[in-house]
Amino acid sequence: MPQVTIVGAGIIGLYTAYVLTELQKIPGSEICVVAKYLPGDQSASGYTSPWAGGNWSCISPNDDASLFYDKFTYQNLERLQKVMLAFFAGKDDEWLGLSRRPSREFWDQVPDERKIESLKSYLEDYRVLSQKELNEIGPTKPAFGISLKAWNFNCPVFLYHFYEFLKDKHQVRFVKQELTHLAQAKCYVNPLSSGNAKHIIFNCTGLGARDLGGVRDHKVYPTRGQVVVIKAPHINENCVRWGKDYATYIIPRPGKGKELVLGGFLQVDNNNAQDTSFAETEDILKRTLTLLPKIGNHDELEIIRVAAGLRPSRYGGPRIEKETKNDDDSVVVIHNYGASGYGYQGGLGMAFKAVQVAFRQERCSRL
Ligand SMILES: Cc1cc2nc3c(=O)[nH]c(=O)nc-3n(C[C@H](O)[C@H](O)[C@H](O)COP(=O)(O)OP(=O)(O)OC[C@H]3O[C@@H](n4cnc5c(N)ncnc54)[C@H](O)[C@@H]3O)c2cc1C
Repeated sequence: MPQVTIVGAGIIGLYTAYVLTELQKIPGSEICVVAKYLPGDQSASGYTSPWAGGNWSCISPNDDASLFYDKFTYQNLERLQKVMLAFFAGKDDEWLGLSRRPSREFWDQVPDERKIESLKSYLEDYRVLSQKELNEIGPTKPAFGISLKAWNFNCPVFLYHFYEFLKDKHQVRFVKQELTHLAQAKCYVNPLSSGNAKHIIFNCTGLGARDLGGVRDHKVYPTRGQVVVIKAPHINENCVRWGKDYATYIIPRPGKGKELVLGGFLQVDNNNAQDTSFAETEDILKRTLTLLPKIGNHDELEIIRVAAGLRPSRYGGPRIEKETKNDDDSVVVIHNYGASGYGYQGGLGMAFKAVQVAFRQERCSRL
């Protein structure tokens, strides 16, 4: 049984710990997660996961790897939800922050055939929307639309319960510490570990992979998004519109807060998560209220907050790759970062692939 250290406690790090413990059956007592920010913490620029909308949508690209990550995650979230609710006896999916909502997605241009074929093969309640239904959407008629049963996350809430689950059920150790070099990860182990010399390090540092010594991946870049969060107990559906140079989304968050996340923006290489823009807020409200007028009148909305976050994007897509350090072959590094705008909806598939790469002794495999 190798010792495992996961660097990063965003959704990708936690999904990786889940796949290791629940699917690969590695005891949590062999696993230590070390991260600058842990669930419950907030950082506008250093910790993306609490800022996500978040839902399962058709945002991700059409390549085989992305299609696999989305499908695997969509199909395996039910098991994760069940396992967590069995542990938190007496609680429900709304409390957990992982629930289901209907969704409609519209495109200005008909999406790639491969994507449609893939979606059709596994989405629950999948239906192509009629011309009449497309005609009802403004300001211009979309070219294509589908409805489906989506997964919805209350991201900060779900992240925190996920952390408690891994800590309390599996005895995974969490340490709050910033690393300057990936080699330091070796020092962070679970004291309950059997102490095997073989050590696997999963690098789940998101945007941190740009600057972390031993990684410094210059393909990593931020994609900024601003959102407006309102209170809207009457909206219990997702609605999304994908354009050539814009993305408009409406995402209800599970839980008693009845929050509705309105977005958004996909601003490549924009590092500014500290500031929010009034003009962007107005633009988001204009687009979302046009897409789903029953949200209400602009001047009567109860705005809870306006926020910005940075998606950890990467040229070429996520990096899931094995690296054996030449100077020490008892240590294996598995990189697992670059989830961009789809860490919740595809990250379980990424984690599954990363664990496969680690344990199947595959040679460096760039997906
Ligand atoms: C506005 C917005 C809306 C979004 N909506 C959705 C959505 O609806 N659905 C969806 O699936 N996704 C959505 N996303 C994307 C999603 O949030 C990301 O894909 C996901 O959070 C990435 O997770 P991560 O674990 O890779 O990174 P992070 O959450 O950033 O975690 C990185 C971890 O690594 C740690 N770390 C980094 N560097 C170091 C270091 N040097 N030393 C120690 N620790 C380090 C950090 O402390 C942190 O714990 C959205 C994102 C934004 C900004």
